[in-house]
Amino acid sequence: MNKKGLLVIVSGPSGAGKGTVVSELIKNTSYALSTSITTRQAREGEIDGVHYFFRNTQEFETMIKKNELLEYAEFCGNYYGTPIFYVEEQLKQGKNVILEIEVQGALQVKERYKDAILIFLTPPNITELRNRLEKRATETLEKINMRMKRAREEIKLIDKYDYIVINNIVEEAVNNINNIVESEKMSAKRHIDLINTFLEGVEQ
Ligand code: 5GP
Repeated sequence: MNKKGLLVIVSGPSGAGKGTVVSELIKNTSYALSTSITTRQAREGEIDGVHYFFRNTQEFETMIKKNELLEYAEFCGNYYGTPIFYVEEQLKQGKNVILEIEVQGALQVKERYKDAILIFLTPPNITELRNRLEKRATETLEKINMRMKRAREEIKLIDKYDYIVINNIVEEAVNNINNIVESEKMSAKRHIDLINTFLEGVEQ
């Protein structure tokens, strides 16, 4: 049996509801959620080390040079990245790890971990995306427009993903992600070692 944990990546445009879905997802499960590093300003209520590790550009670039990041990307004027150490440790211990990251970073991870599961979360439609961003009121109009433009770019890369989940009702989206992960655990390609065990047990 495969003892290493699964690496699950949830991406999707700002306003798709990734944060809400992922926090519901980890409530009753044993997923390890990686905390990212960013150079963006903390929003009201965000805590350093909980929502993100907030660092300045120089500190971030030092981490890049020291190869301390599993992936990183520039998103709407700021850096975002995943610390490599935590992810590798959790996977080694057999835990399933979730990364909530944008598309460029997700594709970098897939290069490195071919068996990572890439899930793209979308809102039911594009109008809803803008509504959600405006309702959230954490960004200026200029930034909302930047994020909408970026959403367009991200949506173009959906075909690089393994699954799409539409986030209309949070509970349903969470169930769908859980179902995807449960099915992936049974996928034949993840159990190649079983073939040898079976062959050894079958008489020639
Ligand atoms: P926000 O500023 O809304 O918190 O995040 C902006 C975007 O950056 C979101 O799409 C979020 O998923 C993504 N993001 C958060 N952490 C990381 C990370 O570590 N790496 C990458 N590549 N993207 C991230």
